[in-house]
Amino acid sequence: MFTADRPAAEILRVEVTDTLAYWTVLAGPTLTVVEDVDSFLCHLRFGRARAESTTKTYAGHLKRFHAWCGEHDLSREHAAAELSHYLMKLRTTPRLTSGRGQGRLPQDSTLGPALAAIHGFYLHLADLRRISAKAVDALFVTAPHPATGKVVLEPRIRVDPRPSHASGRAPAASHEEFAALLRTTKTARDRCMVALLGACALRVGQVVGLLREDIHLVPAGSTVPGCPYSLGPHLHLKKRDGHPRGAANKNRGTVVVPVPGPVVMLYADWMRERLSIPGAGEAIWAFVSFPGPTGEPGGQVLGTRRVQDLVSDLARDAGIRHIHPHMLRHTFGETAADLDVACDVLQRLLGHRDVASQNVYRNPSDARVAHAALAVNDKIFGPA
Ligand SMILES: [Zn+2]
Repeated sequence: MFTADRPAAEILRVEVTDTLAYWTVLAGPTLTVVEDVDSFLCHLRFGRARAESTTKTYAGHLKRFHAWCGEHDLSREHAAAELSHYLMKLRTTPRLTSGRGQGRLPQDSTLGPALAAIHGFYLHLADLRRISAKAVDALFVTAPHPATGKVVLEPRIRVDPRPSHASGRAPAASHEEFAALLRTTKTARDRCMVALLGACALRVGQVVGLLREDIHLVPAGSTVPGCPYSLGPHLHLKKRDGHPRGAANKNRGTVVVPVPGPVVMLYADWMRERLSIPGAGEAIWAFVSFPGPTGEPGGQVLGTRRVQDLVSDLARDAGIRHIHPHMLRHTFGETAADLDVACDVLQRLLGHRDVASQNVYRNPSDARVAHAALAVNDKIFGPA
């Protein structure tokens, strides 16, 4: 039986003219051109006018993919069905190359380009009819594009393209994105939950952990029995253990969150909608499930994942970028910081233990710094 060493592989710059080049992959004991990969990279550079640097990046990814196919003796056809195993291998292989991230496992955001290269490669093979419809089916689903309605091929396997929170803070959803999510909701419940995330800066775990008794939507000057707070509609975030779906409230002790008028109305709409859920009558939770498609009566507590999926689906239906619920909390934080809400006040609004946690929201512009200096001087010297 013929046994070779693990196949060696290289990428190589191919100069076509003085100014035009692309990158290709060589592999095997004698380092020969990998024909189908070369065909794709060539097509990318000259058929699709992609940059030389793109072909270099793709060549690097396809070199590793080709080596993996070789190690496992997989044809392109079979490798398509095993792509999730390849992704698993990438996820569990620390970076060998020097530089940032060396020795660490790759993040989803760095796996995205590898998948893009492989998906592009397979679409090319499909165009050339080098792989069967079955292999294409293993990799892609046809789905209508949410914005245009045109049917497109969507990869079945996707990774989260966002950089992880460790490499920077989660971006805030803009006011327009928040409004688009609200507009796209189909139920009063969802509208109210999205509003609580953005307009009250609640965390997902806090929304699903709210009990009906935590919500005191009484006008200013009135109180609820057992609660002395009289400054207007509000809710209480209480630390409780034992959420049936494991949601955690990260606050310590009890926090009072003022609830603005529009959210009060949305909650009233949800209370009316809730009456139509057979199982909801006895439920202690503020937000519960609707009746299920297979006859469940509804009224069950929600998990955090459910709300994350909801927000993500709303963003897709609205045709905007991916939105994670925490980006709505950041909307609140950034807006408050822009309005110069005092640090200690914002600390309480966001339920932060440490006053420095809000620093991510505070990047004052030169104009605001100049304005503040003038305001202080006006106090000291009197207005000019
Ligand atoms: Zn209260």
